[in-house]
Amino acid sequence: MKQRISNIQKIYKKGVRLLADAGIEEADIDAWYLLEHVLGITRAAYYANPDLELNAGQEEAYFSLIRKRAQRIPLQHITGEQEFMGYPFYVNGHVLIPRQDTEQLVEEALKVLAHGMRILDMCTGSGCILISLLKAGRERQHIEGLYGTGTDISQEALHVAEHNARLLLGGGGPEEGAGSVRFCRGDLFENVEGRYDLIVSNPPYIRTQDIEKLQREVRCHDPFIALDGREDGLHYYRRITAESTAHITEGGYLLFETGHDQASDVCTLLEQAGYCGIFVKKDLAGLDRVVGGSYNRTYTGQ
Ligand code: GLN
Repeated sequence: MKQRISNIQKIYKKGVRLLADAGIEEADIDAWYLLEHVLGITRAAYYANPDLELNAGQEEAYFSLIRKRAQRIPLQHITGEQEFMGYPFYVNGHVLIPRQDTEQLVEEALKVLAHGMRILDMCTGSGCILISLLKAGRERQHIEGLYGTGTDISQEALHVAEHNARLLLGGGGPEEGAGSVRFCRGDLFENVEGRYDLIVSNPPYIRTQDIEKLQREVRCHDPFIALDGREDGLHYYRRITAESTAHITEGGYLLFETGHDQASDVCTLLEQAGYCGIFVKKDLAGLDRVVGGSYNRTYTGQ
């Protein structure tokens, strides 16, 4: 019997239908990304030639990915990639998938970035914050002499961050490329030495009892330790803010991503620890998202 060959348009439409039937919200977008992943085809090429015939191997490869997505495996775990600040980051199940909200933290950090700064990224995960800060700082703002340290309690996460640093910062000596970033494992500041001019962090901040209310993709596939901010969600903000004062330079900046209802609590923590010029910035959805301040040993909060 002659094998039936389907064209790309029919296959895409079937992919969308299978995902929609499985309750995937953005079925058309996800079905498209998976097609792009399997075929390496652009949208322009697709529209130019919707009758393009796929061979059985390509079709099978596509539907096997569609079946995974229908089981609520996140798209990024299937493709191994998430774009952040316009850069392609490698991801796997050991790291939080970088969120668009977090780009706001990087944008605020870019505003205070200056030549020769030492940057610390606490709970670095995939390394998305630190690596894009270094890359955008150098390439877009022409800032030189930046040096970054990323820490995380998970060694598996650090493997992902190191891979991303090589991938996105490239080679080069200690003054450039991946040579100007290092990663260290530890419980927050446990293995951090010296002081930093800029400390950034998107720590775990979901209240434990709220984790079960999250989307299945997040609840079942992002690492629990990357989400869990303990009982009131503020556990890591408290610890990082208190311990930061031994690792920040005079006039250095501490910048956090926060949950939408946590900004005022985090402002209070910063003030109590001796930070001044404290500010809150909103994300694109208009929700409080970034809290920051600069350290001043003599500031009394009055
Ligand atoms: N810093 C990483 C990110 O923003 C990981 C954060 C986390 O694991 N809570 O994506």
